[in-house]
Amino acid sequence: MCQSCHSGLPLSFEVVDEAGIVAAATAAHASQQAWHFHVLAPRCTFSPKPGAYTFLLELTDAKRALCAFYDDKPTAVNKQLLPLLHGTDALADKPAGVSLSDEDEALLALIEAAAKEGTSWHHHMMFPACGLNSSDGKWRLFVEIDGNEPVTRDYADEPSRVLNRVERIYFGLN
Ligand SMILES: [Zn+2]
Ligand SMILES: [Zn+2]
Repeated sequence: MCQSCHSGLPLSFEVVDEAGIVAAATAAHASQQAWHFHVLAPRCTFSPKPGAYTFLLELTDAKRALCAFYDDKPTAVNKQLLPLLHGTDALADKPAGVSLSDEDEALLALIEAAAKEGTSWHHHMMFPACGLNSSDGKWRLFVEIDGNEPVTRDYADEPSRVLNRVERIYFGLN
């Protein structure tokens, strides 16, 4: 897709406010319809509104996408909806024990270094049905660190352990 002549977001979407996002996500969750969300940073590859933070809610069963725009990182709504999506322990400090692949450890080290240096970075956990996911039915972790090419990792199953580590760095919990 041509980034210079199209929105970076390869989806049509409706613009709502934060209350609209929360209501739609909790309703989808309650009725067990598939949904997920992304926080798109101001320089995100997929941003439909560069310069703003975009909270993108994809209602993949309902085939709708909603966006809310923010001047600042939408941390509160992100933390509110994350446990509904990835479980109540999504941000828990889990004991070490499960070893990750070398590729995952290398990616985490890159992210940790960026976070320590104060370099902007963010990530996308792309569900198999995600409209941003160009893999063939895989779970895709897509990490954008300013000044670097995006890093992509694909998984057959939800990479909960890796995601937990990434989210904890993202929210400054380490
Ligand atoms: Zn991004
Ligand atoms: Zn998605």
